[in-house]
Amino acid sequence: DSLLVMEDVGKSYGNVDALRGVSMDVRGGEVTCVLGDNGAGKSTLIKIIAGLHAHTSGTMRVEGKETVFSSPREAQGRGIATVYQDLALAPLMSVWRNFFLGNEMRSGFGMNIAEMKRIAGEELQKMGIVIPDLDRPVGALSGGQRQCIAIARAIYFGAKVVILDEPTAALGVKQSGVVLKYISKMRDSGLGVVFITHNPHHAYLVGNHFIILKLGRVVLDAHRNELTLDQ
Ligand code: ADP
Ligand code: ADP
Repeated sequence: DSLLVMEDVGKSYGNVDALRGVSMDVRGGEVTCVLGDNGAGKSTLIKIIAGLHAHTSGTMRVEGKETVFSSPREAQGRGIATVYQDLALAPLMSVWRNFFLGNEMRSGFGMNIAEMKRIAGEELQKMGIVIPDLDRPVGALSGGQRQCIAIARAIYFGAKVVILDEPTAALGVKQSGVVLKYISKMRDSGLGVVFITHNPHHAYLVGNHFIILKLGRVVLDAHRNELTLDQ
C-alpha cells in the first residue's frame, strides 16, 4: 500500500526552485532510495515530508489524505519519523534512557525503569540488535548501533514511514553493514523506508525502488526489477 505519495511537488525558496515536479510513492515493505548530488533537493524533500517546510506546488498524500504538515510534531503524529544524521541522542545518557528521551509524555508517566529497559531491549532485539548492557552510555556504542537505536525509538513511537537522512555517510564498511541489515529488517516488517544516500552501492544492497534527483527534478524512478544489466 502507498503510505506516502507526492504528486508533482515543487518547492521554491524565493526564486530558487529547489524541487520541480517531483512525484514519488512510498509503500510499506519497500525501501525507497533517494540519490542525488549536493544541491539536488534531498534536504528540501526531507523537510517537506518532516513538516519543516511546506511545498509550494503539487500535492502530498499521507495514507490517501492530502496533507501539508505545519510542524515536525504533526508529521510524527501521522506516523512519519525522520532520523537525522546527528540522531538527537544524548551521548552521556544510557541506551534505555535515550530510547524514551523526548517521548516522556507519550510513553506515560507510569513506567518504571525496569519496564523502560525491558522495552528498549526487546525493541532492539526484535530487529537483530543485541546490546548486552542497556545502562551503557550511548556514546560508548558504535556508530551503527547508535543509528539503529535512533531508528528503533522512532518505530516504537509509532512510525509507519521512516526517513533516513544519510544513515551510513559517516560510517565505515562494517558499521554500514549493521545499519543496512537493520534497514532490510525494517523493510521486511512492512515499514515504508525512505533511504537518502549518496552511496549507490548501499542503495542497491537494500533498495526496492530508486529515485535519482538532479537539480530538483526526478531524473530516474525505477523499481528494482526495472534495473537490468543486459541492455
Ligand atoms: P541537497 O540536500 O540535495 O544537497 P537541498 O535541498 O539542500 O539539496 O538544496 C536544493 C537547492 O535549494 C539548492 O540549490 C540550494 O541552494 C537551495 N536551498 C536549499 N535550502 C535553501 C534555503 N533555505 N534558501 C534558499 N535556497 C535554498
Ligand atoms: P528553516 O526555514 O527551517 O529555518 P532554512 O531553510 O532557513 O531553515 O535553512 C535550513 C538549512 O538550509 C540550513 O542548514 C541552511 O544552512 C541551509 N540553507 C539555507 N539557505 C541555503 C541556500 N541558499 N543554499 C543552500 N542551503 C541553504
